[in-house]
Amino acid sequence: MITQKSIQEIMDVAKVEDIVSDFVNLKRRGVNLLGLCPFHNEKTPSFIVSPAKNIYKCFGCGKGGDPVRFLMEHENYSYPEALRSLAARYGIEIEETVTSKESVEERKAIDDLFALNQYAYEYFIDQMSNTDMGKSIGLGYFKERGFREETIQKWGLGYAPNQKNHFSLGAIQDGYKDEQLKKVGLSTQYGSDFFRGRVMFPIRNLSGKIIGFGGRILSKEAKAAKYLNSPDSEVYNKSKVLYGAHFARTAIRKTDECIMVEGYTDTLALHQAGIENVVAPCGTSLTAGQIRVIKRYTPNITFLFDGDAAGKKAAMRGLDMVLEEDMNVRLVLLPEGEDPDSLVLKLGATKFEEFITRNKKDFILFKTEQLMEDTKDDPTRKADMIKDIISSIAKIPDPIKRSVFVKECAARTHTGESLLFDAINKLVAQAIRKEKEKKKVENLPAPMPGDESAAPMDSGAEDFPPFPGEGEKEKLPGDEFQEKDIVRLLIEAGTVVMVEEEKITVAQFILNNIEELLEDFDSKDYAGIVKECLDNFNEGLILESRYFMSHPDKKVRDIALELLASPFDYSPNWEEKHGLTLQTQKAPEENFINDTLSSVNRFKLKKVIRLLKKNQDKLKETADNTQVMKIIKVQQRLTEMKKELASFFGSVIIK
Ligand SMILES: [Zn+2]
Repeated sequence: MITQKSIQEIMDVAKVEDIVSDFVNLKRRGVNLLGLCPFHNEKTPSFIVSPAKNIYKCFGCGKGGDPVRFLMEHENYSYPEALRSLAARYGIEIEETVTSKESVEERKAIDDLFALNQYAYEYFIDQMSNTDMGKSIGLGYFKERGFREETIQKWGLGYAPNQKNHFSLGAIQDGYKDEQLKKVGLSTQYGSDFFRGRVMFPIRNLSGKIIGFGGRILSKEAKAAKYLNSPDSEVYNKSKVLYGAHFARTAIRKTDECIMVEGYTDTLALHQAGIENVVAPCGTSLTAGQIRVIKRYTPNITFLFDGDAAGKKAAMRGLDMVLEEDMNVRLVLLPEGEDPDSLVLKLGATKFEEFITRNKKDFILFKTEQLMEDTKDDPTRKADMIKDIISSIAKIPDPIKRSVFVKECAARTHTGESLLFDAINKLVAQAIRKEKEKKKVENLPAPMPGDESAAPMDSGAEDFPPFPGEGEKEKLPGDEFQEKDIVRLLIEAGTVVMVEEEKITVAQFILNNIEELLEDFDSKDYAGIVKECLDNFNEGLILESRYFMSHPDKKVRDIALELLASPFDYSPNWEEKHGLTLQTQKAPEENFINDTLSSVNRFKLKKVIRLLKKNQDKLKETADNTQVMKIIKVQQRLTEMKKELASFFGSVIIK
């Protein structure tokens, strides 16, 4: 177990913007950063990173947390693994203690699978460099394909010997379990080696961890599949992984373009030539999940395809999916008989890049041209073809882009524009209807309560819910708001000093005033958090937001996240609704003080109003005169208190 001291050290230096921007293209918006959420599919960014609060939060899917949580969610890391990765990044040495917790076991299970893949990776490399067969067959193959030593090393290429269970037995001897070997697909269900007599291409996740393998068979007579890939496992989800993405992502962001090729060696060859914005789907046909990985870095994707008939067909298939993701799709057909691998060797990097630039064609226009060529003068086939192209254009979410393509397509197919527009509008309307139905089911996220507080014309007064009247029901409107606000202040600003001379903190002020009202909380969750603050405060400790963000109870973490995220100065909803970008930040320190005063007073006011109501009820039930007099006195005193408290809100200017 990593010691608390080490965890603190890591938390002190880990910057959420550093970590997130490894995976998400972030743009500055006021004091925050904004990008496309890596956890759900979206077209307009609602994923916000707050460097000041050191948290991220998606206003679309609700995911959020601190840097550690991000790595756990995004990279499927366990808690210690995320900590270790941060420690490595910031050069912190970790202290560990041995402990016996069962949660540690669960985390370890995933760590072990990563470790096993790393073990296999080293084994395949060792086999290629240190055995005769490995050197002659494995290394021989790569050399023959023109791969240099540094490429082989960088990509960790290896060799799996043609033996029944050499690897599996060794792994078990080294402490791995049969069951783990099967889980990641390194052993077959009979316990023999899954990869045999193959050159090995290790597959990494975005942060470079080995999560699976592709293996190409070398013997020609074998009936086995030319390529074998690791099956999906707890650490490898094929439909979301692209070969080379770890090495390509920086170049993709820099060039604002991703080049998609078909296979492992194509990827390697282009990277080796210095064209590094290149990836390939590994062992699957392209999936929407893979497209979304690219979309985090760039909206521009260029496919390289073989120029033969099969290549052209492949180019047509499946690309509508990319249009749906609102990506700009371009195609390059290579000369017949060439693949990217062979062509880059022949031309060299510069000429290859020139070739790509010269031959890049927009997908829709490419499709139009191809279909025109295929159908020639056959009118029925031409009608089908136009339908086909229209269905592709209708998938483009951006209406402006759509109309540009309609015009192009009309001109090239000699068809009336209005005819095409009508047909497309029908399809788009259909798609929108479908989407709406789907969204109904998906249960759209409610707008964040803090959105209102981010309004630029915010005068303060509208910030608060209306005062509850006396004759109301047991649960008063605004109750939850008050409790929530108290918890928010405790979490966000507990350590802020309110009264300089006496060093009274926000936490102290709230807890002193709220302690005896704790039982009046409607929400058990909020009460629990206040209680935790109180208990720690009595021990001399003021809890900070960081404590809550890494709280062992998920519910507490979620509440902390929601509260910390809600007063973000910028919210995408606001921009959408009002067409403005908010630049000012709310809630400087003095706002915390005002907020604290009003929150506590409001809470007291609520208590008084409740007592008033109880008292009134009593009055209705009592016939005894002395009792009635007593109740009326209490009523008077409570009304005075209420006035006093209410006057706070009337006279004090709340910013
Ligand atoms: Zn999201």
